[in-house]
Amino acid sequence: MSNRVNPDLKKELRKFGEGDWNDCFNCGNCTAICSLTEKDILFPRKEIRAIQMGLKNKLASSVGPWLCYYCGECSETCPRDANPGELMMAVRRYLTKIYDWTGLAGLFYRSKLALFIGFLLVLIAVIAVGYVKGFETEALMEFGHLFEQYVILALFTLIILPNIFHMFWLTIVKQKVKAPVFSYITGFWHLIWNMFTQNRSLKCETGSFRWLEHFLIVIGYLLLLFTTVFLNWFSTENNFIIWLGYIVCGLVFVFTFDFIIDRLRKKREVTKFSHHSDWLFVIWLFLLGLTAFIVRLFVDTNLIDNNLWLYMIHLIVIAQWGILLVPFGKWTHFLYRSFAIYFANLKKSALKREGKL
Ligand code: SF4
Ligand code: SF4
Repeated sequence: MSNRVNPDLKKELRKFGEGDWNDCFNCGNCTAICSLTEKDILFPRKEIRAIQMGLKNKLASSVGPWLCYYCGECSETCPRDANPGELMMAVRRYLTKIYDWTGLAGLFYRSKLALFIGFLLVLIAVIAVGYVKGFETEALMEFGHLFEQYVILALFTLIILPNIFHMFWLTIVKQKVKAPVFSYITGFWHLIWNMFTQNRSLKCETGSFRWLEHFLIVIGYLLLLFTTVFLNWFSTENNFIIWLGYIVCGLVFVFTFDFIIDRLRKKREVTKFSHHSDWLFVIWLFLLGLTAFIVRLFVDTNLIDNNLWLYMIHLIVIAQWGILLVPFGKWTHFLYRSFAIYFANLKKSALKREGKL
């Protein structure tokens, strides 16, 4: 891959987060202190250096930024206050833009106005659907249920999978990484394990409570998706499914509320700066859990027919989340990070095969 210098790289990266790339004088303290760096995959100094030198292709082929869990330890110890943890966050947003073939991820990260227009259009579309369905509870709930299924199918086939393949292309194929075939198979188990547990973050000093909160949100969110999309939670009469739904909704909105408070307090290194995508992610996840919980409560108390506006709000939140925030926002980091670990393991297997590790 050619490593031609792009003098505008630093300027472009500034649109994706806070921080000045010139502050870093490359002492390497951040890499030394990071508990997640390994002999063959060193970050964040290497990525910061690549940006300072305008090496866009080198950055695009790097999996390092995804292996950072933003614990903030490096930012606390940086002698130049360059905030390498937040710089890595900006790089992850930028990489999301690079992988995304639609161009919308980059647009929404850079422009609040574009995002606002997107949210408004989805809101109008949902109200129009409500109007077409005569604002009738049963018809709208049936629509909502089908909508969730089609959106998931469309997102994965049209956006998420092609984008992950693009990431694979940039980090493995273009880099001519020749990993043994068996490492593609054995590494897949690690991919799934990391995706659900994100257990690498336990190596950071931020503590196991943060990890547990993240873990419960991920599990709660996935189970909420499963109960509503596949078990038709709003319409089921099965008591086990109903209670399961209440519990997972509770997990999602209680723990995301704690995340919102944490961001408002700004006490930890990682919450000192919040990009608009960070806010939208936690607030919409919170609303998703809360509105689902209240809608089911109103179904169980036979109040939903006279309070259809509640279901309309839930549908608007789901549509904005599913159409805008999942494919083009911070949600994708969860997937890219898991695949980055997979690709990093492929790189290590290739190095071992060549006797370089
Ligand atoms: S970000 Fe800070 S700690 Fe890391 S290399 Fe630059 S100056 Fe050193
Ligand atoms: S924020 Fe934490 S995980 Fe990320 S590079 Fe810094 S020390 Fe490593």
